Amino acid sequence: MKKTYLLTPGPTPVPETVSSIFARPLIHHRTPEFQKLFEEVKANLKYVFQTEQDVMILAGTGTAAMDASVSNLFRKGDTVITINAGKFGERWTQIAAAYGLNPIEMKLERGDTLDPKDLEKTVQAHPKATAILFQASETSTGSVMPTQQICKIAQSAGMLSVCDAITACGVFNLPMDAWAIDVMITGAQKALMIPPGLSFVALSEKAWKLAESCDLPHFYLDLAKERKALAKNQTAWTPATSLIQGLQESLRMIREEGLEKIFRRHEILALATRNAVEALGLEILAKKAPSAAVTSVKVPSTIRDGKLIPRTMREKYGVTIAGGQDELEGKIFRLSHFGYCEKFDVTTGIACLELVLNELGHPVEFGKGVGAALKTFAEFSF
Ligand SMILES: *Cc1c(COP(=O)(O)O)cnc(C)c1O
Repeated sequence: MKKTYLLTPGPTPVPETVSSIFARPLIHHRTPEFQKLFEEVKANLKYVFQTEQDVMILAGTGTAAMDASVSNLFRKGDTVITINAGKFGERWTQIAAAYGLNPIEMKLERGDTLDPKDLEKTVQAHPKATAILFQASETSTGSVMPTQQICKIAQSAGMLSVCDAITACGVFNLPMDAWAIDVMITGAQKALMIPPGLSFVALSEKAWKLAESCDLPHFYLDLAKERKALAKNQTAWTPATSLIQGLQESLRMIREEGLEKIFRRHEILALATRNAVEALGLEILAKKAPSAAVTSVKVPSTIRDGKLIPRTMREKYGVTIAGGQDELEGKIFRLSHFGYCEKFDVTTGIACLELVLNELGHPVEFGKGVGAALKTFAEFSF
């Protein structure tokens, strides 16, 4: 027998109450029944985004909403500033280039966070730039960016702030309206606790205004068309009905727990994870600004092939964590602690890590990491 545990920063585990919904008979989407469901989902998405704006639901993974946020807003040749703190920041640069924009990329050390002063300098050097595109939480390194400051800088320079909040929205506090985030994006398989296949995007009034002068090609991902459909509790094309039914349930769970409690839970789970890996003598990659969503850990020098850590945990023990991507491949592993995640998901991950480190020849005093996590839970209740 092998029991499995999913501890990755997307997909995250799907609650049983949600996955049981996918076995129900299908409903048709152009019916009052679906429209009623959609209305509830629409209201609850606004709650999660902390916005009065409409949150559009697109059939496609998170990258679809990133793609739409470029193709529906800008003009050919526009200069945009992209913050590349990792694989997902790099994706902004790639999408901008694919649509014929002129991306000015600020590339950071992997694991580092943005210094707002550096952004100010870049903004001064490119005063005609239309927007700043960034991640609130860069999942590939486990580092957060100073979203509120980025938005302030964008606002005073007359630029749009375009925030990929895919492992931030519903993870830690990110009030779209209060912080004047112009475009905010999230995806299904992260804090929203449903399987991959949907992405979400909301635009400020300023962003909708800019969208009117957009001259980039788009057809399927047409945000103005989606907004019109949304007003009638519909989507432009056939919605992914089953996923939206699942979303109705997961959003009810989110509302019931409440954003404040959710943010606190993620914060403590992240703290416990960091305390545990440090107690094991390991080093955290994103030391300056660690994310509440995911903790990235450097592979100790005692272990030659870092890819063996996630592989052994998964293949031998059924515990799936994430490795490093691109230049971080084999150099880090990542423990996720958000979404449908509780104290004993953290201790399971750490316990398995202790076993595997020991097997791979890294000396471990068993229980040291787990103990540090438990101490954290005893100290900070939630
Ligand atoms: C998961 C993720 C994405 C989206 O990736 P998809 O595979 O398209 O869902 C984008 N940005 C961040 C920060 C992510 O964590």
